[in-house]
Amino acid sequence: MASTIIINPATGEKIAEYKRITLNEAKEKIDQSRIAYNVWKQKTFQERAKLISKLATILEENKEEYAQLATREMGKTIVQSRKEIEKCAWICRYYADNTKDLLANEIVKTEASKSYVTFQPIGLILAVMPWNFPFFQVIRFAVPALMAGNIAVLKHASNVQGCAFALEEAFTKVGFPSGTFTNLNIDSKLVKDIIEDKNIRAVTLTGSEPAGRSVASIAGQNLKKTVLELGGSDAYIILDDVNMEEVTNMATFGRLQNNGQTCIAAKRFVVLDKIYDEFLALFTKKMKAAKMGEPTDEETYYGPMARKDLRDELHEQVLKTIAQGGKLVLGGEIPNRKGAYYPATILADLMPGMEGFDNELFGPVASVIRAKDDAHAVELANNSMFGLGSGVFTGNKVRGEKIALQLEAGNSFVNKLVVSDPRLPFGGVKNSGYGRELAAYGIREFVNIKTIWID
Ligand code: NAP
Repeated sequence: MASTIIINPATGEKIAEYKRITLNEAKEKIDQSRIAYNVWKQKTFQERAKLISKLATILEENKEEYAQLATREMGKTIVQSRKEIEKCAWICRYYADNTKDLLANEIVKTEASKSYVTFQPIGLILAVMPWNFPFFQVIRFAVPALMAGNIAVLKHASNVQGCAFALEEAFTKVGFPSGTFTNLNIDSKLVKDIIEDKNIRAVTLTGSEPAGRSVASIAGQNLKKTVLELGGSDAYIILDDVNMEEVTNMATFGRLQNNGQTCIAAKRFVVLDKIYDEFLALFTKKMKAAKMGEPTDEETYYGPMARKDLRDELHEQVLKTIAQGGKLVLGGEIPNRKGAYYPATILADLMPGMEGFDNELFGPVASVIRAKDDAHAVELANNSMFGLGSGVFTGNKVRGEKIALQLEAGNSFVNKLVVSDPRLPFGGVKNSGYGRELAAYGIREFVNIKTIWID
């Protein structure tokens, strides 16, 4: 029987092993979820909200345990793991408090005596999730899905199975009916069979572009809706009127948070010519000073990458960019220590056609790009196959907003790093995916938007 082996990326040591389930076992679980759906869809918003609020409490009560688990499995710094759990509780409370309004019937005036739109659940939703926010990504999908009356079926990333089981246990502890939230520890090759199961009504995937293409094409063949949250190569435009001290602090945090492995991390810094050299010098100084180390150490600024194979792939991308003419300003060498560490790295003078400009660098590597003026900066930022997040840093909010409106991305922030916030929709355009999570837009992705007409 195959199993999932979990390696601590900070030490390279095996920390756990979970037996993978077979397709038949997965189908049995889906059958239980189908039965659970008949019960769950009948519950009122108030009944669902009561359980979701309890889930928030359980997450908060066990914050330290869950945070330590996430850090052990994927190397996030312990300080950021704790914040991740707190954010999960926030999402629970947001949907517990607001779903009644977000999914309230919408009266539409027509010639009918009564006509309105109502939002009904559609059934079992399969979620294929990544390891980079092992608790948050799951909660971001599962909580609105459940509040809408759907059922959550999870296929989590193999390297964070401990987190997946911890979440399943939390839902059970809270008192959700059996089968309402189910973790399938399966090989990703079985995802196709699960999507094809007639009980699965829709699929949401957060992960890489290849995984998104594969899952969406199978779902499409089976006429099942998908939401895709894929990669990004977010551009942050740095204008010539910024406070350089503040903006370089932001840039350092934006590139190194979550050990450089955030879909909406600041990846490409598009800097106006006038301040380019000054920005690069101070940014380099701060990236160099950021402490790489044990993720359990509270003083650590960034820890290891989640897996050695991902670290090695990133290093190949760095070497390729240099071979294409990119300038290595900092880092770029695999350190001589155990674990999947990679140092804070800066590649400067990048241009379209170079690996570090065109593709996502999913680790602590920053791409710095020179722009002549505001219009050129927008052109460079939009010269990407991705469109997830983006930002503008400026001393002039009007100038910033004008640029933000021109950026081809699902999220454009002025003077702040992009964050996902339950009150606002989150998602991408172009190869970063489609559909939205969070807010009203997210909860309405997986519902039957149903018209009622009474003549
Ligand atoms: P990944 O390799 O695509 O894995 C994501 C999930 O998909 C895992 O559960 C994985 O299972 C599964 N999977 C992989 N290939 C599959 C296939 N062909 N068919 C079905 N399932 C498949 O991505 P990752 O390395 O975990 O995450 C990094 C990527 O996710 C980055 O590109 C990042 O930008 C993106 N991301 C996007 C967002 C967003 O909100 N837009 C958020 C976080 C991350 P196994 O682990 O078993 O292989």
